[in-house]
Amino acid sequence: MNAALRLGLIDGDGIGPEVVRAARQVVDEALSAADAPRVEWVPLLMGHRAIEKYGDPLPERTLTALENVDAWILGPHDNASYPAEHRHAVAPGGAIRKRFGLYANIRPARAFAGVRAAARRIDLVIVRENSEGFYADRNMFAGSGEFRPTEDVAMMVGVVTRQACERIAHEAFRLAASRRKRLTIVHKANVLPMTMGLFRDVCYDIAHAYPGVEVTDEHVDATAAHLVRAAEDYDVLVTENLFGDILSDLAGELSGSLGLAASLNCSATHAMAQAVHGAAPTIAGHNRANPAALQLSSAMLLRWLGTRDSSDALLHAAERVERAVAATLAAGIATSDLGGQASTSEFTEQVCARVLRR
Ligand code: ATP
Ligand code: MG
Repeated sequence: MNAALRLGLIDGDGIGPEVVRAARQVVDEALSAADAPRVEWVPLLMGHRAIEKYGDPLPERTLTALENVDAWILGPHDNASYPAEHRHAVAPGGAIRKRFGLYANIRPARAFAGVRAAARRIDLVIVRENSEGFYADRNMFAGSGEFRPTEDVAMMVGVVTRQACERIAHEAFRLAASRRKRLTIVHKANVLPMTMGLFRDVCYDIAHAYPGVEVTDEHVDATAAHLVRAAEDYDVLVTENLFGDILSDLAGELSGSLGLAASLNCSATHAMAQAVHGAAPTIAGHNRANPAALQLSSAMLLRWLGTRDSSDALLHAAERVERAVAATLAAGIATSDLGGQASTSEFTEQVCARVLRR
């Protein structure tokens, strides 16, 4: 038996506990089927339950514990619903990304057999720069990127650095080289020539290191339109933080539902599985949430760990989860966001049963 992996498990708010539990179940099943190391799960608090117990939506003890795990699964948080004194400008997910330097947010969107999708042949990955850009909380120079010089004027500062552009570009080119070898740089250099111009230019500089990848660039508004018209034209897209957030919700819906949209936040040393969707409070506690997004995010986490540890067993476990989710959807088993009747736990049982099949 291999040494156990230690994985953090953070329920979060709304549908969080339901989808995190569902992700844990399929990961356990896949690891045992692939003869991979067992997982020692480390449950940690964030959000409403952390406020109740420790008076803080993201207690220091949760952050410290994350230093001592191999990686973790993060449920959604519902910052807007916290009591005013706990509603920080930096929501818990953003604070964790910042603390651990998770600069890359990898967000695939693909069509699944059995799922009605506006973009029937979509199969792309958005590589979102996750550490700076136009997010108020990511501004390392001004402390906060937003300020209000007078009652009637509010301003924002965006930050783009060569170093951050280089590392995200490498991430995106490496991924494109392993796929259909096409990369689109998404920016808005026509109206933001300095910040978005630097982003675009640095991405083109890095392109020289990847001669096998065909690279083009587009304005983000054109990309949004083109995604709706012909999403299948894209392979890998690399873009700044805010644009990446918006485009990945769009791509997720085009692929059938936000409930299918997976994502991984990572650096060279840390990784966190986190679905693209939020806490969906209106359906929380009803066993109705689609757990596929976090299950697929967890498969990405297993793949990241398998690459880090050169472990074929972990890579096989990742593949098993992905194939089992796809096979479950293909069999017409669907939660209500996809127009079906399956509950969160029924969907998960079906995935677990298919994880065991070869
Ligand atoms: P956030 O700001 O945290 O991203 P949001 O405002 O974008 O949150 P979500 O919580 O992502 O909102 O929900 C958007 C819509 O999608 C809601 O109608 C919600 O019910 C639905 N939804 C989101 N995730 C799921 C899921 N896993 N299963 C089913 N429906 C979902
Ligand atoms: Mg959202």
